[in-house]
Amino acid sequence: MSVALSHSPLAPPPMPETIAEIARRRLAPQVRDIDAGLYPEGVMRAFGAAGAYASHLSGPSAPLDLSDAISATSRAAEHCLCTAFCMWCQNALAWYIYSSDNASLKNNLGPKVANGEILGGTGLSNPMKTFFGIETMRLKGTPVEGGYTVRGALPWVSNVDQTGYFGVVFEVEAAEEGAASRRVMAVVEGGAEGVKLTEDHDFVAMGGTNTQAVQMRDVFIADDMLLADPIDDYLKKIRAGFVLMQTGMATGMIRSCIGLMRQVEAQLGHVNKYLDRQPGDFETELAELEEEIHSLAKTPYDTSISYFRRVITARLKGGEASVAAAHYAMLHCGARGYVGQGVAQRRLREAYFVAIVTPATKQLRKMLAELPAA
Ligand SMILES: Cc1cc2nc3c(=O)[nH]c(=O)nc-3n(C[C@H](O)[C@H](O)[C@H](O)COP(=O)(O)OP(=O)(O)OC[C@H]3O[C@@H](n4cnc5c(N)ncnc54)[C@H](O)[C@@H]3O)c2cc1C
Repeated sequence: MSVALSHSPLAPPPMPETIAEIARRRLAPQVRDIDAGLYPEGVMRAFGAAGAYASHLSGPSAPLDLSDAISATSRAAEHCLCTAFCMWCQNALAWYIYSSDNASLKNNLGPKVANGEILGGTGLSNPMKTFFGIETMRLKGTPVEGGYTVRGALPWVSNVDQTGYFGVVFEVEAAEEGAASRRVMAVVEGGAEGVKLTEDHDFVAMGGTNTQAVQMRDVFIADDMLLADPIDDYLKKIRAGFVLMQTGMATGMIRSCIGLMRQVEAQLGHVNKYLDRQPGDFETELAELEEEIHSLAKTPYDTSISYFRRVITARLKGGEASVAAAHYAMLHCGARGYVGQGVAQRRLREAYFVAIVTPATKQLRKMLAELPAA
């Protein structure tokens, strides 16, 4: 059988195609174990070696573009949302480091995160909710000689263990009475003195994400681990990329659910055709969504409100379409999707995560309601 190649036989395949191949070979056989709690460390490192966490970083050789990072995440999400989410966590950490002005982080930790040698993530759910008026800051910092000490707790930080690193934001009270506090962003090491990681969650899905409850008791954060102090301008720079890169989870999930619907067409099409939504409907929605995402991916540092609104809208559509596609995959598959080993029920449990991970559907809707029109 001849296989159509979308690239020259002499040139290496584009990175997302390499990721798709690794996902087919190494990830697909493990998805049930990952669903049951296995962290896919070998696959995460193999993706890193193949360039999955480095394609979106600015460098002299290529213009900044998030497209390949999103496509690679999408290819993994076609099989397993745990792994795709861990890829997003890793990409977000790399994004924070390379978007900062911290040369030490960029030269030392950055390359090891970008190639998957060091694994890590992001504890930004609480600050992202705080910036949009939903929660209050959970981490507090105190200035000390050479940096800060930080106290507080984050309930969920994924893709980390004691050898990993993650981004955090903490609040620092102003020295002068009555002045506004400021927010500072930094990278923390999972094994740093005063950091306690506990894996005590019992989720309905996403068990293989190495998700930790993090306690920080007067953890010293040196100046050379700071990403931004204060965070304000830096936050405007990174927020669109943070949100947009999550859309890879959505497009992979939708594509996989379309595949599930198509798989049962021959046997069940005569009755499935009465369902409200058909695979072709989701194919049209997916094509439109991917076109918008890849157009947005070319200018991730655009700080305009109109651009951020488009990113939020694409992310919202991705979450809603993921849940809808997984719901219809279950209806199309029927009983074969409803058994313990059924793919459709796993995808349905996973799909809700796209809609509840920060920024969740409700937060995205709040943001669209409150951000200026343009
Ligand atoms: C599998 C998984 C992985 C995650 N990984 C990360 C990560 O890597 N980094 C990160 O920053 N965030 C992570 N999160 C958090 C996630 O991004 C969302 O913030 C979270 O799902 C809640 O978002 P929400 O906006 O729906 O808030 P809501 O759930 O509406 O509200 C959150 C509030 O509810 C409270 N709450 C939470 N659970 C309970 C409970 N069982 N009983 C009572 N109150 C509760 C919390 O204290 C919090 O203040 C993860 C969550 C999950 C489920």
